[in-house]
Amino acid sequence: MNKIYDVIIVGAGPSGIGVAAILQKMKVSYLILEKEDIGATFSRWPKEMKFITPSFPAQGFGQTDLNAVVPKTSPAYTLDMEHPPGEAYTEYLNVVANHFAIPIKKGVQVNRINKKDSIFSIDTSKGFYQSRYVVWAGGEYQYPELTPFPGADLGVHNSLVPSWEKLDGDDFIIIGGYESGMDAAYQLGKLGKKVTVIARTNTWELDNSNPSIALSVYTYNRVRQLFDSDLLKVAGNTAVTNIEEKASGYDVYTNDGEVYFTPVRPILATGFKGSTTLIENLVTRGKHGGVLVNETDESVDTPGLFLAGSELRHDSHIFCYIYKFRQRFAIVAEAIGQRLNSDLSILEMYKQENFYLNDLSMCGEMCQC
Ligand SMILES: Cc1cc2nc3c(=O)[nH]c(=O)nc-3n(C[C@H](O)[C@H](O)[C@H](O)COP(=O)(O)OP(=O)(O)OC[C@H]3O[C@@H](n4cnc5c(N)ncnc54)[C@H](O)[C@@H]3O)c2cc1C
Repeated sequence: MNKIYDVIIVGAGPSGIGVAAILQKMKVSYLILEKEDIGATFSRWPKEMKFITPSFPAQGFGQTDLNAVVPKTSPAYTLDMEHPPGEAYTEYLNVVANHFAIPIKKGVQVNRINKKDSIFSIDTSKGFYQSRYVVWAGGEYQYPELTPFPGADLGVHNSLVPSWEKLDGDDFIIIGGYESGMDAAYQLGKLGKKVTVIARTNTWELDNSNPSIALSVYTYNRVRQLFDSDLLKVAGNTAVTNIEEKASGYDVYTNDGEVYFTPVRPILATGFKGSTTLIENLVTRGKHGGVLVNETDESVDTPGLFLAGSELRHDSHIFCYIYKFRQRFAIVAEAIGQRLNSDLSILEMYKQENFYLNDLSMCGEMCQC
C-alpha cells in the first residue's frame, strides 16, 4: 500500500517551492513531484531573456524583493542581479529549496489525477502517489500554444528558441506583441536584424498601469529606440489568420487582407496553453478561461485541489507575475493547514512581511499618477 501524503504539490517552480516552504513550517507531510528539475521553465528561457520585474533587496522596510518566493529572501541578494536571466533565477530557487530542505522528486511527470473517497490518486511516469490534498503548481509557460491558426506549425515558438544569437536569418516576422514578442524584437534588433511585429493588440500604447495588460516599462524602454530605426516595423491591431510556405520563404496573412513575407520561419510569440489542461477532468473554467476557484484558490469542482501560480484567475484579476501570485501561497497553505489541524503560527510572519493577501478588492487598482 502506498504512503498517503497530506499534500502532493505538482511542480517545482516559484509556486511549488513557495507553497512548500510554508507547509514545511507547518510540519505537514508533503512531497513535490517535478517532471524535470527545479525551475525548469526558467532554464528554458532564451539565453538573453531577463526578468522584467526588477529584483531589489528591500527587506527590512516591509518590502520583500518582487521576485522572491519566500519572505526574507532576495534573488537580488543571492544573485547580485537586478534583472536576472532565467538560468540565474533557477539558482535562486535551488538555494531556497536547499535552505528549507524541501523534498522534491525530480523527473516525475504527473499524467493524470483522480479523486476517490477523499483521496487523490496521482498517476505519474514513475508510478502512483496518493494524497489528501493536491496543490497544482504546474505553471503556464511550460506548454506553448503551437497551433493558434492554420500553418502555425511552419513557425517556431519563441519559447523553443535557445538563443536569439544562434538563429539564422536577417529579416524576421514575430507574431505577437506582448512581452515575449517584444523581447524577441529587442533581442533581434540589438543584433542588427530586421523585424516586423504583427500584433493583435498594441500593448505598447495601452494607457494601463497593470503590466499584465500593457507592455511593461522595462520592455517598452528597451524597444522604443528600435521604433525610430528602420530595423523594427509594427503591424498593430492586426491578427494573423494563416501562414503558407513559399519557394523562398513564408507568407503570413492577416485579417485586414495584408500579406507579409519572411525568408525564415516566422516566430510565434502567441502564448501558452497552461498546465491545467492536464487536469481538465477535475475543474471547470470561468468566462476568462481560468479554472474556477473559491476564495482559498480551491477548485469549485474538486474540494482538496488547490491552484497556485500564474494560471490563477479571480474574476478579471490576472496573477501572471511572481509578486502577484506569491500573495496567495499562504492562503492556500492556511486552508490546508486548518483542515489538518496543523500549527499555523508561521502565517503571522507571512502577514507581517506583506505576503498574505486575502482581500482581493484592491487588485486591479490603477496608479493615480
Ligand atoms: C516572456 C516572459 C517573461 C516573464 N517575465 C517574468 C518576470 O519578469 N517576472 C515574473 O514574475 N514572471 C515573469 N514571467 C512569468 C513567469 O515565468 C511565471 O511567473 C512563473 O514561471 C510561474 O511560476 P510557476 O511556479 O507557477 O510555474 P513554472 O515556473 O512554470 O513551474 C512549473 C513547474 O511545474 C513542472 N511541471 C509542469 N507540468 C508538470 C507535470 N505534469 N508533472 C510534474 N511537473 C510538472 C514544470 O517542469 C515546472 O518546473 C515571464 C514569462 C514569460 C513567458
